[in-house]
Amino acid sequence: MSATVIDGKAFAAKVRGQVATHVTALKNDHGITPGLAVVLVGEDPASQVYVRSKGKMTVEVGMKSVEHKLDADTSEADLLALIQKLNDDAQIHGILVQLPLPDHLDEDLVINSIDPAKDVDGFHISNVGLLGTGQDSMVPCTPLGCLMMLRDHHGSLSGMDAVVIGRSNIVGKPMAQLLLGDSCTVTIAHSRTKDLAEVVRRADIVVAAVGRPQMVPGDWIKPGATVIDVGINRIDKPEGGTRLVGDVDYESCAAVAGAITPVPGGVGPMTIACLLANTVTACCRANGLPAPEGLTA
Ligand code: NAD
Repeated sequence: MSATVIDGKAFAAKVRGQVATHVTALKNDHGITPGLAVVLVGEDPASQVYVRSKGKMTVEVGMKSVEHKLDADTSEADLLALIQKLNDDAQIHGILVQLPLPDHLDEDLVINSIDPAKDVDGFHISNVGLLGTGQDSMVPCTPLGCLMMLRDHHGSLSGMDAVVIGRSNIVGKPMAQLLLGDSCTVTIAHSRTKDLAEVVRRADIVVAAVGRPQMVPGDWIKPGATVIDVGINRIDKPEGGTRLVGDVDYESCAAVAGAITPVPGGVGPMTIACLLANTVTACCRANGLPAPEGLTA
């Protein structure tokens, strides 16, 4: 069997197109321009690339983009004061603080100081609680993107066996909640899971979010299963230079799976598209309008 490749790049372009349509309608019908503020503390090169790309795509879909770049030694008080200002700013509907933060800043405190209604990353404890209890919330972008691709491929996920490898707060746990919300039977596997191969072999849906290059081989995959690879790992090429790979061994998994996301070009582009989708959702809710269909969980 050769798996269908789930093209996250094309899917993300479609989602951004839908976001742009909603932004135009918000402007034309209500005179509202959704605004996203991104806060970057320090000069982590990967974070700088992410922030640049988020800003560019925010503008491309017609939204207002604001970037706040703060020095690495910014005090917690100054950062919290900026977040308070953005919380109070009616033109800003989404606030994202780029992680990781420098060590002297308390990440939980900072994230929980964002107005939950503007928490477009979905990391605030209120949003985590709302998601866990099946209520409308801001949903973390990466798992939301995975869910959208799964729904698009399968239609209903009801009754499917899903295994999520990884239990992080930003990917593994919210992914499991979303799959449960779509009536999958969900197992969360992690670094202490016994006989991971056997656990994964039961799954109709495998979501790998581990951060270990190519750790899931094809012989762990049930024939016909759908494999969503969240991992982004840079490895050395034998001929020199580096390349990006996921957490699953693509060639051997694609030979067995029914469908698979590639790395790059799978989950990655969906993450930014979902950030934009969340910003439109936050803007609609802030203005008493229904959240756009198809762009929420
Ligand atoms: P994390 O380090 O916070 O969590 C990794 C999880 O993997 C942990 O829960 C741990 O228990 C589990 N784990 C570690 N070793 C394991 C093993 N041998 N067997 C089973 N489980 C094991 O990582 P994260 O933030 O969830 O990110 C995971 C991966 O996804 C990383 O490669 C990251 O770069 C990538 N990521 C991609 C996107 C995207 O947009 N595509 C977004 C976020 C994260």
